[in-house]
Amino acid sequence: MRRLVAELEGSIEAVFGRGPLVKGTVYEMARKCGKSSCACARGELHRSMALSWSHKGKTRLMSVPPERLMELRGKSEEYQRLRGARAEVAAIGKKMLAAIDQIERIRREEP
Ligand SMILES: [Zn+2]
Repeated sequence: MRRLVAELEGSIEAVFGRGPLVKGTVYEMARKCGKSSCACARGELHRSMALSWSHKGKTRLMSVPPERLMELRGKSEEYQRLRGARAEVAAIGKKMLAAIDQIERIRREEP
């Protein structure tokens, strides 16, 4: 149980950041525009940065202008960190409850 508390303290650290978060993932898109005369038709794909996130079960996509790339990448990474910490806290919480139930089974006696 003490080990779980220590784990919890480690995981929860990421929750105490104060900076803004942006939901989603920043990645590079490479695509063809469809014009047969364009260089992309010969394999030189159009490259641009995009932010994608899910909203009510659908994937949303926003193109990221170069001047916002660093900012949005940083904020989306912060979001991933927070979500990761949330998942860890949930998993540790589950283990703690199981440990408490086990303690009860060991300590409990009939009246
Ligand atoms: Zn093209």
